[in-house]
Amino acid sequence: MLSSRSLLVILLLLIGNLSIAQEEGKKIFKIFIDPGHGGKDTGKLAKQDGMKDEKHLNLIIATKLGNYITEKIDNTKVIYSRTTDKTISLDEIVDLANESNADFFISIHCNSNPNTSIYGTRTHIHGHKFGVSRNLALTIEKEFKTRAGRNSLGIMDAQDRGTNLQVLQYTKMPGVLVECGFISNLAEEKFLNSDLGQDYIASAIYRACKTVINDSGIKSENRDTIYKVQILSSTAPVNFKEKRFRKLDIRVEEFYYKDKTYAYQYLAGREYEYALAEKLMNKLRKEGFKDAFIVKLKDGEYKVNRTSR
Ligand SMILES: [Zn+2]
Repeated sequence: MLSSRSLLVILLLLIGNLSIAQEEGKKIFKIFIDPGHGGKDTGKLAKQDGMKDEKHLNLIIATKLGNYITEKIDNTKVIYSRTTDKTISLDEIVDLANESNADFFISIHCNSNPNTSIYGTRTHIHGHKFGVSRNLALTIEKEFKTRAGRNSLGIMDAQDRGTNLQVLQYTKMPGVLVECGFISNLAEEKFLNSDLGQDYIASAIYRACKTVINDSGIKSENRDTIYKVQILSSTAPVNFKEKRFRKLDIRVEEFYYKDKTYAYQYLAGREYEYALAEKLMNKLRKEGFKDAFIVKLKDGEYKVNRTSR
């Protein structure tokens, strides 16, 4: 039987352990890894015999990256958009990432070009004004160049590209999309298909993550103020199967306000700059939504009721 004194000692020991555990686990750094494409969406097709299509290479590199991160950086958790060869839409990837509340979003891709002499790595971000994303992208490219011996083609944002990348535009956390090399280039395709090459790429990205986490800690970016384009409002819910919605290359969100006459409002897009929202508004007006206008919202202060896809 235990004396009351030894019970007290055990109790104190338990409390002591509890507080240590709490301190150790004070913040888990979550990294969302998206191996691009999958399933029916093969991505870029392999060029040489015996080589893998992009979707397979992306999954292999992403898995290696995730393993490096969980094994070598303390207090991290990796979440994947997919761990098997399954089809997943861009909307689904965005939803999964946002629901996971990850601190970083990393999408893994391989590039291709009709000009087979082009080779090298490139890291994409949504906007240069997002400092954490930019820092991570620059660090990844630096690692590629200095430690993995790759031909770094640098970083690019939506303005540099002249186009948005949905997974970077709609995700709420700092994020990068890494093009690990060109499978259209014979030598680079071989490199990306080799176990060693995949390790080089994955460990370069892992080291960049580690550097950014250690140097600047966990920082989010100010993506609170967003612009969306309202395309219509209605007293009753609309049918998203109608042609006017299906033909849009953008997802429409339904907001519901029970106290308003036009209780159902339909918004599209997610921009962080007014000028870009204006561009989207003009495009949507041309596509049949003549009364489209811009609304400014605080992220997190609205709830999407339903989406068109
Ligand atoms: Zn791709």
